[in-house]
Amino acid sequence: MSIETSIASLVEDQTGQPYPYRRVELVEPDWTRFPGWRDVTAEEWASVQWQRSHCVKNVRQLRELMGDLLDERFYADLERDQAERATMSMLVPPQMMNTMAPTTEPAGPGSLTDAFYADPVRHYMIPVFSDRRTDWSSHPYATRDSLHEHDMWATEGLTHRYPTKVLAELLPTCPQYCGHCTRMDLVGNSTPVIEKLKFAGKPTNRIEDMLDYLRRTPSVRDVVVSGGDVANMPWPRLEAFLMSVLEIENVRDIRLATKALVGLPQHWLQDDVREGVARVAGLARARGVSLAIHTHANHANSITPLVADATRAMLEAGVRDVRNQGVLLNGVNADPHALLDLCFRLLDGAQIMPYYFYMCDMIPFSEHWRVSVADAQRLQHHIMGYLPGFATPRIVCDVPFVGKRWVHQLADYDTERGISYWTKNYRTSIEAVDPEALTRTFEYYDPIHTLPQAGRDWWAEHGELDTSALKAAEMAEASRRTAALQAW
Ligand code: SF4
Repeated sequence: MSIETSIASLVEDQTGQPYPYRRVELVEPDWTRFPGWRDVTAEEWASVQWQRSHCVKNVRQLRELMGDLLDERFYADLERDQAERATMSMLVPPQMMNTMAPTTEPAGPGSLTDAFYADPVRHYMIPVFSDRRTDWSSHPYATRDSLHEHDMWATEGLTHRYPTKVLAELLPTCPQYCGHCTRMDLVGNSTPVIEKLKFAGKPTNRIEDMLDYLRRTPSVRDVVVSGGDVANMPWPRLEAFLMSVLEIENVRDIRLATKALVGLPQHWLQDDVREGVARVAGLARARGVSLAIHTHANHANSITPLVADATRAMLEAGVRDVRNQGVLLNGVNADPHALLDLCFRLLDGAQIMPYYFYMCDMIPFSEHWRVSVADAQRLQHHIMGYLPGFATPRIVCDVPFVGKRWVHQLADYDTERGISYWTKNYRTSIEAVDPEALTRTFEYYDPIHTLPQAGRDWWAEHGELDTSALKAAEMAEASRRTAALQAW
């Protein structure tokens, strides 16, 4: 269903409103519905060690968990995707697995398979070959580091793109791997399609280099501490880094990026982690620094009581705010009801602030997930007015070489070819002497299948790029970067 169709199909409820707000109680789905977890106790479920050691990492483990609840066609579809399309390896913690097809009772052969195929969380955590576009599976301008973060590394893993803020990629792993990950170039294990870039420096040296850069760059006041996911960094090392950052006078905002708050809330509920966060938050408060957590939920089903518990634990430990940065994805949340359901579930149920929805970036094989800028604008329009203003998320386009722009901020838009043009009001770290940085326009491309026929014809003539060429180009680019890093 197109977004326009889904918007048109909004049914007014008895209040006469297109979106019928209802408070919904959070529920932890019953994990014993999966044959492989029939005997798992509540104590095991609450254990982060148990969760980490029972992640689903491959087709065999999915089969062991689901048994014949899923038909062979699903497993074959998944296997083909992993061999030919997947840019991320599979890693799904039980907590996330349990939010897929959460209430379906098998009513007949194939019924759970159908529900699993349709499930929004499954759509981005366990992508299958038949999900992807067969016409334009990748946009011709898709690249593996689509935001050019590496080009803007001030030190290895420290992206300095905006004037006052930096992104510190402390580590290249997460407790869960999302199929659409924008850092697919670096994060996770290599797949048959994508050979991952490896950090060249030792972790301790990289961290020292980052701290050194922050100390000698007083224009930076805001540090996003990310990866990967900070939940994969042993807490004592993360705490030591944060304490060092807090000693730097110019740093006023620290944001910890962790999807694990949603995917593995058990991590943030551990006593040692809670106590450590309280120590860091205490020092931050004493120094007038704002410490926040940014998490990543894409669907209302992901927000369960354990997620609310973990959020409460972080707020009680002294974190100033927990905010959500979701990704706008077809098949997951790209309609106004799904977005509003998620925002209300976050806000009412878990005290998480809806903050951003990013448009899915132009990485390889993401066309089935991406929406056009025009559709993103329509979605922004349709979610306005229901949430408090401070909790109404902005839908943003992360424009290569520009950064986040609200989707209505474009300078020009060729809707036939799906090319939007954007300007900016600051220089990135690689444009210090570029005389045109502030006057040039930068381009972003809509998925070709969303264009009118004339636009699709234009791309068919000008943009054909077969997947083997894409793969070769990606590999060459990875080799170039690896060589550059080794020469660092
Ligand atoms: S949690 Fe974030 S960094 Fe990790 S795979 Fe998902 S999107 Fe990528």
